[in-house]
Formats: sequence, C-alpha cells, structure tokens
Amino acid sequence: MKFTPEKYNIPDEPQRPYIDNEEIWSYLDNAKPTTKRINQIVSKSLGKERLNLEEVATLVQADSPEHIDIIKNGAKLLKEKVYGKRIVMFAPLYVGNLCMNNCEYCGFKATNKETVRTTLGNNELIKNVEALEQNGQKRLILVYGEHPRYTPEFIAENVKTVYNVKSGNGEIRRVNINAAPLSIDGFRTVKEAGIGTYQVFQETYDPEAYRKYHKGGKKSAYDNRLVALDRAQEAGLDDVGIGVLFGLADWRFDVLGLVRHTNHLEACYNVGPHTISFPRLQDAAEFKSDPKFAVSDEEFTRIVAILRLAVPYTGMILTAREPGHIRKEVLQYGCSQIDAGTKIEMGAYSKNGSAKQDLNQEQFLINDDRSLGEVIDELIEGDYLPSFCTACYRKGRTGEHFMEFSVPGFIKRFCTPNAILTLAEYIIDYAKDDTAEKGWHLIDKNINSIKEPRLEASLRMKIERIKQGQRDLYY
Ligand code: SAM
Ligand code: SF4
Repeated sequence: MKFTPEKYNIPDEPQRPYIDNEEIWSYLDNAKPTTKRINQIVSKSLGKERLNLEEVATLVQADSPEHIDIIKNGAKLLKEKVYGKRIVMFAPLYVGNLCMNNCEYCGFKATNKETVRTTLGNNELIKNVEALEQNGQKRLILVYGEHPRYTPEFIAENVKTVYNVKSGNGEIRRVNINAAPLSIDGFRTVKEAGIGTYQVFQETYDPEAYRKYHKGGKKSAYDNRLVALDRAQEAGLDDVGIGVLFGLADWRFDVLGLVRHTNHLEACYNVGPHTISFPRLQDAAEFKSDPKFAVSDEEFTRIVAILRLAVPYTGMILTAREPGHIRKEVLQYGCSQIDAGTKIEMGAYSKNGSAKQDLNQEQFLINDDRSLGEVIDELIEGDYLPSFCTACYRKGRTGEHFMEFSVPGFIKRFCTPNAILTLAEYIIDYAKDDTAEKGWHLIDKNINSIKEPRLEASLRMKIERIKQGQRDLYY
C-alpha cells in the first residue's frame, strides 16, 4: 500500500521532529463532531483507510452518548470484520532496572534509592525464560531501564540467549524489546540478533508536559526520543512500536500525537508502526499523578475505540496494567495482543509462589495478576482464539498486522490456521483438563468454519502431527 502524504506545518523528513503543538490544538479546537460527520469518518475507517488528524480530532471531541456509541460500535465492527477473534499472547521479562533517568512516574527512576537494582545474569535469565516456557509462553518482550550497561551488544546477547533456551517442548520464538532509544548502529546490532519489534514510547507528545516529567538523564531530550524510531528505520529495523503513557497530559492531544507519529513514519519510510501501546499511568514509588489529566475508565475505553478506527492496520497492545474487567471490554474494540501471567518484579518468574506486589521492587503496580492459564481459559470462554503465532516474522513477512489487513484472505489462509496450531500445542503441553476440553471444542468450531476443503484437510493433518509430538508447524 502506498500512503498518501499529508501536508502539515512541519513537513516530514527523516529524523526531523514533526510535532507542532499549535497545529494539533487547532485541529482539536476546530473539530465539529456532528452525527453525519462521525458516521462518515467511521465508514472511511471501515473501508480500511487510516484517518487523518482532522478526522481523529473529530472523534476525540465527540462526547455525547450517541456519538460514543457510533465510535465504539464502529471499532467493534472493524475488529470483527478485519481481525476476527484472534488474540496474540505475550509476556514481559524485566532484564535490568538500572536507570540513569528520572522519569517522575517510574519506580526505576535514578532518585528512587529504595529500589533494589538488579540486572539478570545469564543463569537467572535462563531460569526465568525456562519458567516462562514451562507455562506455555512463546513470545517475550525484554524490558530495560536506560543505563550504560545495557548496550546494544548486551541486549543482542540477551536475545540470543533467550532464543537458545529450550525447556521440554517449550521455546521462545519471538523476542521483542522495550528499551532506551539507540543509535542507528545500535539498532542494526539488535536487529541482527533477530528481534521482532523494538518499542520506544514517547510517553507524551506534549513537549511541555514531557519536560515536566523528564528532568534529567538522556530521556529529557524530547526531540531525540521523538525521532528515535526513525533511526531504527534507517538501520533497516522496520518493525517498531510506539506508545503513550496516558495520564501524563491531555489524552486528546496524545491520541493525535500517536496519529501524527504514524503518518510521519509512513511519509518518510512508507511503513507505519507495527504496534501501538497505550498504557495508563499506575501507582509508582514516590509519585503522585496530576488528577487533572487522570484518564477515567470510560475515557480509556473510548481511546481504544478511537485508536482502532484511526489506524486500522496497526497492532494494538493491551497490558496487565489494566484490571480484568477493562481488559475484557476493550478486547472487543480491537486490541490484538495482550500479556498474561505477567510478573514485573525482577527475576520473579523463576521464584515460586506469587509474591505480594511491592512498590519498592517494581516499576509500577499491575492490576491483572492472573496466570496465563486463567487468562487463556477466560478468552476461550469468550469465544476468542488465543494465538502464540510467530509465523510471519519467521517467514520474513514483516508487518503482520499490515498483511492481515491489506492482503485479501490473509487471515483465513494464515492467521487463523496458525492460531489454531499454536493453541493446539498449548492445550497438549500446558492446559488444565477443563481448559483443554473447551479449547478443543473451540478449535473444532474454527476449523469447521474454514470454507476451503484443502486448507481444512491440511490443518487437520497438521493437528494430528502435533498430537503425535511434532511442534512448531505453521503456514
Ligand atoms: N526504560 C525504557 C524507556 O523508558 O523507554 C524502557 C522501559 S520502561 C521500563 C517501559 C514503559 O513503562 C515506559 O515507556 C512507560 O511508558 C511505562 N511506565 C513507566 N512508569 C509507569 C507507570 N507508573 N505506570 C504505567 N506505565 C509506566
Ligand atoms: Fe528509566 Fe524507563 Fe523508568 Fe524512565 S521509564 S525511569 S527511562 S526505566
């Protein structure tokens, strides 16, 4: 797909900051959310087109119950029609919490002297990965503070170690990274180690709020962070994730910031971000958030629906920062990936039992501490198809969400069958009996809905091979 460039006050050029405060506010201030206009915008999105800033501003400013219903129903329809019921599962693994920065909202900030600082050594890393594999995880995101010790070479070594850990039938097939922005050479080094997505969240696109929360350390340089993922693209790492920490500034501005970032990447590199993350600010050590910018549950669910419509072909990641009931609601609007069985205390996966969360040990507190098994069980109950698929990335089909979206029949031919195969593996290797029973039922139902006899037969054959002990079969 060729993207149509849009004209903004700051023209898009590689590695050039692209946020114009006044421009974003003028879109928000001039938005006219009428029923007719909102319907038109939702139809455009259902026609598989990304929305521009004016259109997104209109959705953001629509706050009557009638308009919110149109937006949420539109997002639901888009999700059902385009993505179906698959939800990709992953887990975060905190590798090191040394940090030179002072992000006020984060428990790992340099000024927090109470936090025990740790970096997992090779053995600990391996033990944690084994524990994750023994639960059935196949996709990890490695998380780091910003510190001279966490060089691209160090991260690349960790990635290689993780890929080499095998435990029974368990293995990690995709490693993503959430760490500080790197140089072009640095991005090249981690790409060569075989990473999936590299995530860098801007936290807030509002320059003034950004300065207020980031006083000290490299992260205080707003512009450097804004174009960090341009450097990734320059290095040939085209699988990048962007994000906002909602609750730091006006959420309306930050939703537009995410869209502006997306169209900047499209204009310069003809590829948008692979994923968008939208964490909501949680309690952290020595931090009181500003109630003026608090994002209510109602606003949060609306943000997810608006983002779904704004960037229809981008993967959307929802994390365990959100409680179970909110996760359940927003899954309908288009989140395509969730974490489960999450522990964010350093090294916690290899420790027995579930330790009580402690603000001095963790970056922030999470609200969904259910095991992977429990979350999978609930997803199956809700008719969702949990997937551990890593096929596209390993077949060199980068930008899988983009493919799903833009290649006709792609989901039917690749995504659903691969979700079924990875769920079958999970059921055989890790599921409790009652989850397994419901899971096989769901698999049958999904296979029966495949209308291509050859694909159906080949899928059934592959499932038999999995039952006989083969693993990692995919299309
Ligand atoms: N240190 C790297 C950085 O800052 O980009 C990457 C890792 S940081 C541990 C990952 C993300 O956690 C941050 O980008 C931020 O959005 C999120 N985070 C930090 N403090 C948080 C809080 N109190 N509540 C929710 N999310 C938080
Ligand atoms: Fe360090 Fe990242 Fe936390 Fe900021 S958000 S203090 S950079 S770990």
